[in-house]
Amino acid sequence: MNNTRMYYTTHREEILKSRHDRYVLNKEKEQKSNHEYREYLKAEVLGHYSGGTPKCVKCGIVDIRVLSIDHIDGGGFKHRNDPSMRGYAFYRWLKKKGYPEGYQTMCMNCQWIKRIENKEYGEIGKRTKYTT
Ligand SMILES: [Zn+2]
Repeated sequence: MNNTRMYYTTHREEILKSRHDRYVLNKEKEQKSNHEYREYLKAEVLGHYSGGTPKCVKCGIVDIRVLSIDHIDGGGFKHRNDPSMRGYAFYRWLKKKGYPEGYQTMCMNCQWIKRIENKEYGEIGKRTKYTT
C-alpha cells in the first residue's frame, strides 16, 4: 500500500467529513448568490417595464413580492405553460431580447382583474391540475 492510500485508509472519516463540509459550504454560497442574482434580475426587468422603480402600472403598488410581468394583449398562459419560460427564465429572456414591447409590470390582483374583465379566464380550466 502506498503512502497516499495508507493515509486515506487511516484518515477516511476526516477526509470524507472535510469534503462534505466543503460541499455544503459552497452549495449554500452558490444558492445565496443565485437567489440574489434572480432578485436583482427581477427588480431590473420589472423596473424597466414600469419606467423606473418597479410598481404596478395600474394601482401603483411597489411591493415587489406581488409584482410580475403582464402581457398587455393577454396570452400569458402560453408563456407560463412553456417550462423553459417559467419564473426567472422569463425575466432573463426579456432582458436578453432587449425588453420587447407588449409587456408591463402589474401586481397579481390587477392581473386577475384584467383577466376577468377581458374574459381570459377560459384558459384556466385547461391548465394541468396538480394533485397532492
Ligand atoms: Zn396593481
